[in-house]
Amino acid sequence: MQRLLPLLIFFLCFSAFTQQEELSLDYYLPQDVSYNEEIPKPQDIIGYIPGEWHVTHDLLLNYMRELARVSPRIEVENRGKTYEGRPLILLIITSEENHNNLEEIRENHLALTRENASSLNTEEMPIVVNQGFSIHGNEASGSNAALLAAYHLAAAEGEEVQELLDNTIILFDPAFNPDGLQRFSYWANTHKSENINPDPQDREYDEVWPGGRTNHYWFDMNRDWLPVQLPESQARIETFHKWMPNILTDHHEMGSNSSFFFQPGIPSRTHPLTPDINQELTKEIGTYHAAAFDELGSFYYTEENYDDFYYGKGSTFPDINGSIGILFEQGSSRGHAQETDNGILTFPFTIRNQFTAALSTLEAAKNMREKILNYQRNFYKNARNSAENGAYVFGSEKDASSAYELAKILEKHKIEIHKIKENFESDGKNFKKNSAYVVPKNQRQHRLVKAMFERRTEFEDSLFYDISAWTLPLAFNLDYAEDVKMNKAGEKIKNLEKPEIDQVEISNYAYVMHWHDFYSPKALNMILEKGLRAKVGMQPFSLENKEYDYGTILIPVQNQELEADKMHQFLQEVSQKSNVQIEGINTGLTQGVNLGSNQFRALQPAKVALIVGEGITPYDAGEIWHLFDQRYDMKITKLDTRNFSRADLSRYTDIILPNSWGSALDDSDIDKLKEWVRDGGTLIGYRNAARFFEKEDFMDLEIKKDSLVAENISFEEQRDFRGAQGIGGAIFEANIDRSHPANFGYTNDKLPLFRNTTIFVEADKQSYNNPIQYTEEPLLSGYISAPRLDSIAGTVPFKHTGMGRGNVILFTDNTNFRAFWFGTNKLLMNAIFFGDEM
Ligand SMILES: [Zn+2]
Repeated sequence: MQRLLPLLIFFLCFSAFTQQEELSLDYYLPQDVSYNEEIPKPQDIIGYIPGEWHVTHDLLLNYMRELARVSPRIEVENRGKTYEGRPLILLIITSEENHNNLEEIRENHLALTRENASSLNTEEMPIVVNQGFSIHGNEASGSNAALLAAYHLAAAEGEEVQELLDNTIILFDPAFNPDGLQRFSYWANTHKSENINPDPQDREYDEVWPGGRTNHYWFDMNRDWLPVQLPESQARIETFHKWMPNILTDHHEMGSNSSFFFQPGIPSRTHPLTPDINQELTKEIGTYHAAAFDELGSFYYTEENYDDFYYGKGSTFPDINGSIGILFEQGSSRGHAQETDNGILTFPFTIRNQFTAALSTLEAAKNMREKILNYQRNFYKNARNSAENGAYVFGSEKDASSAYELAKILEKHKIEIHKIKENFESDGKNFKKNSAYVVPKNQRQHRLVKAMFERRTEFEDSLFYDISAWTLPLAFNLDYAEDVKMNKAGEKIKNLEKPEIDQVEISNYAYVMHWHDFYSPKALNMILEKGLRAKVGMQPFSLENKEYDYGTILIPVQNQELEADKMHQFLQEVSQKSNVQIEGINTGLTQGVNLGSNQFRALQPAKVALIVGEGITPYDAGEIWHLFDQRYDMKITKLDTRNFSRADLSRYTDIILPNSWGSALDDSDIDKLKEWVRDGGTLIGYRNAARFFEKEDFMDLEIKKDSLVAENISFEEQRDFRGAQGIGGAIFEANIDRSHPANFGYTNDKLPLFRNTTIFVEADKQSYNNPIQYTEEPLLSGYISAPRLDSIAGTVPFKHTGMGRGNVILFTDNTNFRAFWFGTNKLLMNAIFFGDEM
């Protein structure tokens, strides 16, 4: 390494020099290939050589569409839109002849994963490769390299490329994250100097919050391949299941001082459901990247840093689907060139590496074609042979929407699901026709199903690149049984439909709405926004053998903004839009509390602000924004930390402080916030807000001290030792007090929570102040070290304190994690609507 370094620096500087002097396509393209003059070069459409500027998504799109227009090798497909309305396109690249038989090729290819695949001849079958770029928008060398890769595949001439195209179907996704790419390109181009300045302190290399990594709602989309909640992922997953690609590549960037990484990652951190051969094939594919990089003179590494554990990542998701996912990570120049430990790293250099890896992937695919096709066939054959009989069942008697939302994920993954034949009970849980689903274990996607439903608490390694658990029925807080007989299954579902609800019966007295359904907050918000009076029941009651639980919403007919018939009409509309049942009742003489009781408390419309900006974790803030905007149709004001001192807080009933680092708010901001709470505001803090609340006297908290001492741990082992004590993301069980407004709407006495912090708050001495408390053995799924498990037992993830006329509420756990933790979203809504009753 020592002796090679000066050489490398010379090489990197040289590439910086050529870039400023005369960057041309020759810098990137293989020397021995001739190109069809009829095909436009990138600069003919976008106006510059790739690497001179950061390509914007619209120019990238223009170029791809132009290639599709002129080249018989390329077809373009539009698969929907991002949140910002950018098209999610896919290029299908193959030989003209294959294009003429594309549907037949696809059908034959899919047959490999089905029964009786053994008779198929893979000798003549093309391999399917899905290449995707820059899912993190500010890791832009990928999408910029896509310009060159697409050009090369459209324009290269000769036997070699013809052989490649005859034997390969390339599903080419030039921008996995159009909104993020656009945001980042604006930043990098805005700050580019005529004389490129590689000083890492230049503003060009220091994006403002939230940066271009994420999508519109600040999600890391490379975590959504399994939960598939975002439109970009939905398009990708549809393509994936439509084609079942054999290889899927995911082009990223990493720290500027790094070289280039390609998978396999750390062997001991591969998910145990991934077959060993998958990693062996990945390694063999790696020899093609290595050879190409050796020839280029670029450095690289493999089997370090990254892993193949969480199936929600683009490079790991394929591994549970008989495919091979490959992660590429290029040291980032961030802007146009940057000083690094390896000399000046230029943007064109990073593009060239990505382009090279894209071509070496195709070279490997072509040469290993039969082997990889056979692997895919065997994967499904072995999966079928190892599949157990029986089925999973999941549902929720009172929250049909959450069960439906989980079923939707399964449907997107083409997993076979059934209705239940008849209502039944299993392990004391009731499964009802309108709100429960059966998932047979013995089906094509059996391994994927297992990866979604299993609870895992034993691990070979104690370090994880991402979360260690994602057990979906727990994330949705659904009742489920892991082993029911297939005779419970009713008809197979072809088109999943929303749970049925009844029309709202007209009443001249009152309407009631249960608070159990996932979407009940959406309905309540519509009612309060309309200016109607509504109340929440602090105690259960019953009427004509129907039970109404804690938190039932009561809407009186008398003395309202709307006349009785208009009100009925409006509530019918609310019920339809939210898909939540609203019932008309005609007497106040209920059993338990009566409707006129003071145990029904008046509710106020929620005016919610969310603190965002420098110092706030964008993911956590974005998840909350998304929850309000996309799930509950509730307005939420994004208050920037920059302008907090000037904001008029009296407009808000609730302010949410997401996880933050450092001091997002200064002393005068803090005084202002306290005054607002004392005047009656409800402040809701997440995760690290615990330390902030404690330090700034918002709340009396006893946070456990970190008393971990290393014994027999060497210097080399210290990083792993510390890492093993973190909680990257696991699922824990809490006991809940259902009579506390924090828990209204929950039907069980236990609640699974997702946690990715090591903040442990001691329980209060008064038991009624601990409405949510971890059990003595709380680990449900995922990894936690033994000392940490001791620490968490019996602590509380929730705390409420009154302050003046207002409230301070703390959640140490993320209740809104990555838009798929439907099960705990209600906790935040309870804090918003019922904070004053706590
Ligand atoms: Zn990345």
